[in-house]
Amino acid sequence: MSNVAPVVFCGHGSPTNAIDARSQARVGWREAAARLGKPKAILAVSAHWATRGTWVRTAAQNPQINDMYGFPKELYQVQYKPAGAPEVAIRALELLGEDAQGTEEWGIDHGVWSVLCNMYPIADVPVVMMSTNVKASTEEAFALGQRLAALRDEGVMILASGNVVHNLELVDWSNAKGEAWADAFDSTIRDAVTQGRFDVALGYQGLDDWQLAVPTNEHYLPLLVALGAVRVGDHVGVFNDYRELGSMSMTSYAFWQE
Ligand code: ZN
Repeated sequence: MSNVAPVVFCGHGSPTNAIDARSQARVGWREAAARLGKPKAILAVSAHWATRGTWVRTAAQNPQINDMYGFPKELYQVQYKPAGAPEVAIRALELLGEDAQGTEEWGIDHGVWSVLCNMYPIADVPVVMMSTNVKASTEEAFALGQRLAALRDEGVMILASGNVVHNLELVDWSNAKGEAWADAFDSTIRDAVTQGRFDVALGYQGLDDWQLAVPTNEHYLPLLVALGAVRVGDHVGVFNDYRELGSMSMTSYAFWQE
């Protein structure tokens, strides 16, 4: 494995994916972590920390935030509190310059812990949380990733957690798959990402049914931050390539150097 840390975008979907024994996502997360190895630290961009402006947590601890309501009690019993990494946070802020600010607010929300408690279950990799700036244009989100890419040389994995297709109003708990429009939108993005045509992902508002797939941008923008951190020579892998609940895509991407 190269010394350059990978970039990962994970679809997280329903919070129950964290613990559900039948969840395919968990298998994909475990396998991805086994293949990508354990980084020195993780910079985690979360759809569930949706803010105006970009914020990076500089604290040495990550209080766990159970920002989901009405789920089985087992889900609230999951404990996942990796250490923070203030030196990585300061480095990220240095790279981001005027485009981000440090804070000790927030913590590790379910967008990130539901994924990481499967990828690195003993929580031994420090995590620096970064918010999703819902006021950013697609180009601005991509540019954040470009600036953060240097962290990869310092052994820091960039992990963005969201969903390419995410429409809560159209969630259908009786549908184990995706609606036709969700499948089509997700596969257009998948083909573009795997072929390096990131301009298609940036220009998603020109694609069919984009208003259904991305009614609000907080779950989509983390993908663009991740794509910004991709480099020439990265391998690309797709995992958890499926849709669920009709209107949710779990499709995830990993980029790594050999
Ligand atoms: Zn979510």
